[in-house]
Amino acid sequence: MSMLMNNEAALAQLSALTKEALEEKLGKREKAGAITAALYNSDMERRKDILLAKNPAGIIAGLCALSCLTGAKKAEIVSPCVADAAVANGLKAAAEKAGLALTLTEDDFVTKTEHRSDLLVSFEELAAIAEKLAGEEPKALYAVGDGDLAEADPAMTVKAFLESQGDVPEDIKGIAVDHAFCPAGALETVTLGQLASRSGVIRVLTGKDCILDRARKEILSLRKKSCGKCTFCREGLYQLQVNMDAVAAGRGKTTNFEMSQEIAEAMLVSCNCSLGDDAGKPVTTMMEYFRDEAEAHVRRKECKAGACLAFLQIYVDPAKCQGAGECAKVCPVDCIEIKPGYTALIESFDCTRCGKCIDACPNGAIVRTAGKVPRNAETAVRLKNAAAAAAGAADADDDEDDGASRSSARAGAARRHRTLRRPGR
Ligand code: SF4
Ligand code: SF4
Ligand code: SF4
Repeated sequence: MSMLMNNEAALAQLSALTKEALEEKLGKREKAGAITAALYNSDMERRKDILLAKNPAGIIAGLCALSCLTGAKKAEIVSPCVADAAVANGLKAAAEKAGLALTLTEDDFVTKTEHRSDLLVSFEELAAIAEKLAGEEPKALYAVGDGDLAEADPAMTVKAFLESQGDVPEDIKGIAVDHAFCPAGALETVTLGQLASRSGVIRVLTGKDCILDRARKEILSLRKKSCGKCTFCREGLYQLQVNMDAVAAGRGKTTNFEMSQEIAEAMLVSCNCSLGDDAGKPVTTMMEYFRDEAEAHVRRKECKAGACLAFLQIYVDPAKCQGAGECAKVCPVDCIEIKPGYTALIESFDCTRCGKCIDACPNGAIVRTAGKVPRNAETAVRLKNAAAAAAGAADADDDEDDGASRSSARAGAARRHRTLRRPGR
């Protein structure tokens, strides 16, 4: 039976099973006041909510079995999905059939302190219990990127699972899962069961993904969801963000990494829910598996993937530029200098690396690079067909109704008296 299908068989089994029989199938459990079923707070993907809609009988069978084993008097399901009438009705109908007093709570957050005497379980655990009740071996639920959840043998390696779900990119450098990173080299040996992902969502990292940028995004998403009650989670995430932002902005030092690592390690053991437990992982796993790439942002001022804007350079290739100034018309900060008869020149100090000029240039003359700017691109050079280009640029300047042209003109007028040599960067 699939965990993603309504497990009526498990529900039917329950009435025939005594507590002893359940213990034999599922093992003994400690006493609990109530069973609370929810996704982990750190699971931002929320893909496994789908179990509530697809397998309400399995979820209720799991809750009933655990209530019997722990002596719990109450059962609660916490998820934003119960606001959906179809989902709520499916769960209520199954609970009524099993004689379970069920509470549905529309929320996406559960803390250990509020449920101190409860047994907290995930929807996947409940569906797995239902599988066992029906005499089946539960599978692992995983998805690659934005794909659908699929069932797989927990003994399958991560690499084999990725391949089963489609082509694995040649330049794969690892995966991101549950706010942690895992290097490509480990994927051939680590199994899905060992990965034990809470969200089940594996995101593939390639050469185009900057590990520092990914870590910053993970930290930001965790910070947005943190309820702020625990000092380590609240302050720790803030400090991690400040440190990683400094590195991404080109102001970083190796001490930013050292400090972040200490904070992250302390967070792993000091927080009150799964979100805090996972909050340090972007930094700890980045430093464990991708230290060179992360530290290159500090030691060599380099972002290999070209994702951190502070390390990007944008320049005009003099061999391709025709000087007519389409780029300057779209530049939001007026930092492209157009002078009749010369190639365009970007003032890199003011440039925000937005890339609008790249899209606007009809000649593909504007280059974005994570490496060095060629020397011949640091100065505007005289165009071979200077007369024609000067006429083109003058026409653009004369177009008073064109706001973008005005921007070009402003930049030109403000700088007309200045040398065309680029200021120091
Ligand atoms: S660990 Fe974070 S999200 Fe969880 S309860 Fe504490 S402050 Fe809130
Ligand atoms: S749009 Fe391209 S070709 Fe035209 S001036 Fe700008 S860089 Fe040169
Ligand atoms: S990247 Fe953006 S800010 Fe920089 S020169 Fe181009 S348009 Fe202007």
